[in-house]
Amino acid sequence: MGLRVRQFGQIGHKVVNVETVNVETPVLSCPDPNFKLLIYPFEHHLELSKHRSSIAHYQKMQAIASQTRVAPVGVAQRTVNVNKASAFMGAPVGHRSLGIAKPLAKSQQQVSGRSLSMQVYAVKDGTSLDRPLRVAVIGGGPSGACAAETLAQGGVEAFLIERKMDNCKPCGGAIPICMVEEFDLPMEIIDRRVTKMKMISPSNVEVDVGKTLNDKEWIGMCRREVFDDYLRNRAKGFGASLINGLFLRMDKNGDGPITIHYNNYEDGSKVGVPTTLEVDMVIGADGANSRVAKEIDAGEADYAIAFQERIRISDDKMEYYKDLAEMYVGDDVSPDFYGWVFPKYDHVAVGTGTVVNKTAIKQYQQATRDRAKVKTEGGTIIRVEAHPIPEHPRPKRFEGRVALVGDAAGYVTKCSGEGIYFAAKSGRMCAEAIVEGSAKGTKMTGEASIRNYLDKWDKKYWLTYKVLDILQKVFYRSNPAREAFVELCSSTYVQKMTFDSYLYKTVVPGNPIDDAKLLVETVGGLLRSNALRTGKGVEVSFASTRET
Ligand SMILES: Cc1cc2nc3c(=O)[nH]c(=O)nc-3n(C[C@H](O)[C@H](O)[C@H](O)COP(=O)(O)OP(=O)(O)OC[C@H]3O[C@@H](n4cnc5c(N)ncnc54)[C@H](O)[C@@H]3O)c2cc1C
Repeated sequence: MGLRVRQFGQIGHKVVNVETVNVETPVLSCPDPNFKLLIYPFEHHLELSKHRSSIAHYQKMQAIASQTRVAPVGVAQRTVNVNKASAFMGAPVGHRSLGIAKPLAKSQQQVSGRSLSMQVYAVKDGTSLDRPLRVAVIGGGPSGACAAETLAQGGVEAFLIERKMDNCKPCGGAIPICMVEEFDLPMEIIDRRVTKMKMISPSNVEVDVGKTLNDKEWIGMCRREVFDDYLRNRAKGFGASLINGLFLRMDKNGDGPITIHYNNYEDGSKVGVPTTLEVDMVIGADGANSRVAKEIDAGEADYAIAFQERIRISDDKMEYYKDLAEMYVGDDVSPDFYGWVFPKYDHVAVGTGTVVNKTAIKQYQQATRDRAKVKTEGGTIIRVEAHPIPEHPRPKRFEGRVALVGDAAGYVTKCSGEGIYFAAKSGRMCAEAIVEGSAKGTKMTGEASIRNYLDKWDKKYWLTYKVLDILQKVFYRSNPAREAFVELCSSTYVQKMTFDSYLYKTVVPGNPIDDAKLLVETVGGLLRSNALRTGKGVEVSFASTRET
């Protein structure tokens, strides 16, 4: 009795693909822990195929088959078409290789005029594994590093693939204080504590915000090259495999294992060595230009282009900015965002962003520099950087066993342009759902865990994104509206509410009387500034509902 089947699987990082095999034993599994043989002949009179691909393949499979053992009970089974060589043998252990058990129609079972069928055991979600669940995390920024750390801590085998280990992500580097405690960040990676903030209106009216902060409250300023490096190495310390490589593409072999193709730079090569890796799940944490998102056709979402210059200024000028951040609003600095001066380690970062008129970004940058000129003049530009900032969650944030997190998913908030905390948090939440769904890496899991992460995410943050979207549309729409916005920021109540929700990422219940006063002040301010009579009507939208 013989049976032609296709074999693929993995030994270490090497993918084995054997086309032809003679299977003699009814229910088999491979002794190699990286393999599981999940096939047995349904009919006992099958003949050995005439189309064996090569003697070498045949012998290799014979060698594996001779050491086989009985597969564990409790796996799902499905009838498949032998002719299409779609019977998988040796998929990575415990892999959900063929999904839901469903027999094919009789007509689909014709092989060379004969009806052949066999049953393939597919490991369903929830089936116990005899090796840990394997997850590749693409991108080692805050989202990827935090995902890999949580996976590794939770018993999952995590591979963190980062193309550039000393990457200096163009970023203001501002983080809320709650992140320090929540992500257990050491103070060494935080260069400065901002306790004062100035909102500066189109007519240069300055309002000091931050008056409500107590002496334990501040906004952290960090250098991303330091910050990301710390998080990546911490993930490694918890057992994640940190790989210096450029992700290229992936093959999603039906419901079988996902093959990651990447260029490995580990040996110091600049070009990289083409390498493959087979995993059960993939987390795309590769930023706004995500290749993983493209691989799953996640769709495009609006993005802003942000431009930033790092300027080294004299010590006395730096003294002014040592604990102060400035935000400039006005048509001159951006039609739909704000310009900023943020203090960094030994210099300031001056930047701006826009969605609606990207080609004019340099003109807006010049205007931001001009507005801050007195305080930064004489400085030397030490770095110029530009990068997209996603404006919306992508239309689709997952497909099957591939999920997106951080900028790859589109999780930057409108109005403030904040993304570091949300990146780290989404990476962690996605990983937590996988750890939970896989019972700490001991069981197969996939889409259900990803849906669990997305449900929790949307429940927790949908309102935050929505409110900031509305604020941006109302207050950044014209110079009169911006004047009203800055005026509003002088309210102690507004400052408290804003800082509390930024610093602690919780929606703090307000005082109903103050809320009513705030509403009156807002409408009054907008009317005084003639804000509502200019520009287009307010259109507010959130993520598309097209997600599967
Ligand atoms: C100018 C500017 C200023 C900003 N200022 C702030 C701020 O002050 N505060 C704030 O909270 N947010 C800020 N943001 C937003 C913030 O930078 C992002 O939201 C945050 O970095 C997202 O983290 P992430 O891990 O999702 O993606 P990223 O930080 O973009 O990390 C993605 C990682 O993936 C790697 N990668 C990409 N492609 C591949 C590949 N093919 N293979 C392997 N690796 C790959 C990259 O090298 C990178 O390390 C700013 C953004 C910009 C552009």
